[in-house]
Amino acid sequence: MSAVPDGKKLVRSPSGLRMVPENGAFNSPFSLDEPLWIPDKECSTCMQCDTKFDFITRKHHCRRCGRCFCDKCCSQKVSLPRMCFVDPVRQCAECSLISQKEVEFYDKQLKVLTAGGTFGVKVGSSEKSETMVCRLSNNHRYLFLDGDSHFEVELSRISSMQVLTEGSTPGEKDICSYTSLLDNQISEGGSLRANGMVLQYKPPGSQNLQDLYMDTADDKRVASAWLVAMHKAAKLLYESKDQ
Ligand SMILES: [Zn+2]
Ligand SMILES: [Zn+2]
Repeated sequence: MSAVPDGKKLVRSPSGLRMVPENGAFNSPFSLDEPLWIPDKECSTCMQCDTKFDFITRKHHCRRCGRCFCDKCCSQKVSLPRMCFVDPVRQCAECSLISQKEVEFYDKQLKVLTAGGTFGVKVGSSEKSETMVCRLSNNHRYLFLDGDSHFEVELSRISSMQVLTEGSTPGEKDICSYTSLLDNQISEGGSLRANGMVLQYKPPGSQNLQDLYMDTADDKRVASAWLVAMHKAAKLLYESKDQ
């Protein structure tokens, strides 16, 4: 175990080396825990193709789901950024597909989110809109909003998120794209351009929900891409609650 300057440390698990935050409380909200491996004595055959394990056909555990497979069914080594592995790790076919999509999220959308976009921002019932740059913090735990003022919203305190598309207004029934981190509703938007977002969150020390309205401003293309990335991030966070 060795410390590195940016508050992360290298840990060794049976599945490989992982680079994790020194303080577990600072884990990225996108991170997943390593699964428990199904004990060797509980699996005598491959959980995909049913081949019996023996001295020649050895068992391998998928690093993502912890299930037991033969070499043929668990041969792919794929990056698994959500479990902080430094190198690609062995995964079953099903998990490889999911992980590959997530790698795309890490390579593309997360970069868009941390780079930020410019929005007209309204808080609560205020009529005044302030131009602010909104970006995801480097540890992925906060949305930072910077204009004349600064404030931040912790992702874990967001209770609902609505991505608005052209032609839709907040609260309208036919909103094309809707994501809530707490509710069970997720539906995909069409090809319409995302042009706003409504967040409800609980400010620290408060039990009352605060509304936050964001409209794309300035470079609408960048801001729109930021909203689409945020929508994907919300889906990832929501789906991981089920695991
Ligand atoms: Zn197999
Ligand atoms: Zn798997």
